[in-house]
Amino acid sequence: MVKCSFCGSDLPIGGGKMFVKREGTVFYFCSNKCEKNQVALGRKPVKTKWTEAYNKLKKTLLTSKEKGETGTGK
Ligand SMILES: [Zn+2]
Repeated sequence: MVKCSFCGSDLPIGGGKMFVKREGTVFYFCSNKCEKNQVALGRKPVKTKWTEAYNKLKKTLLTSKEKGETGTGK
């Protein structure tokens, strides 16, 4: 199963979009929303609140905070 390169959700079979950059990087997008955020707006998945990558990072930060390490704050 292919996952969306931006939000991390599974692409529907026969759906979604494959985007290849000139340098050869391949992205898969589940929706136009994800494509626009990545390509047109140049956003990073880890900095966009509704993506899986953001939630994962948030979790990692919270766990490392519990260990006594200082987080980056907001
Ligand atoms: Zn997506």
